[in-house]
Amino acid sequence: MAMEKTVVLIKPDAFQRGLVGRILSRFERKGLKIVGMKMVKMSPGLAKEHYAHLVDKPFYPGLEKFMTNEPILVFVLEGQEAVEVVRKIVGVTNSRKADAGTVRGDYSMSTGRNTIHASDSIETARAEITRFFAPEELFDYNLKVWDYIYAEDEKE
Ligand code: UDP
Ligand code: MG
Repeated sequence: MAMEKTVVLIKPDAFQRGLVGRILSRFERKGLKIVGMKMVKMSPGLAKEHYAHLVDKPFYPGLEKFMTNEPILVFVLEGQEAVEVVRKIVGVTNSRKADAGTVRGDYSMSTGRNTIHASDSIETARAEITRFFAPEELFDYNLKVWDYIYAEDEKE
């Protein structure tokens, strides 16, 4: 068990479909702490870095166009095992295969329009935090309900 930070992007399809608030509220109600948040417009260069593992795929040009044409919401969530917890809430890449109850399972029918991104490992999360946020854009505030979200032996 370890306190982790992870990155979530809410993609342009979620903005168009009025899902931003509903998606965000799922992470809030789970007990994840929001430690950074902003709207950004991804540049093609940033997209190539963010999707470096996919730049050679046939669908990449469409993915880049989709992710850079309109603004997205980027936020950082903190919690015990946050990377894994958030990926579970998000669901698998192909929304048609994603479990009901996950964001993708409940709100999308698509792989290329799957509403959300989340870091897939602790290392990726670290790289994504640096990619999207300056140090002063992350906040180390005291969440007063922390004692009710975690037991004594779960806080560090
Ligand atoms: N993607 C796509 N077609 C594919 C695979 C991926 O359009 O066949 C898009 C999809 O939006 C996905 C993103 O590329 O969310 C990143 O792919 P990755 O394999 O990293 O999936 P994720 O981590 O988002 O589940
Ligand atoms: Mg990924």
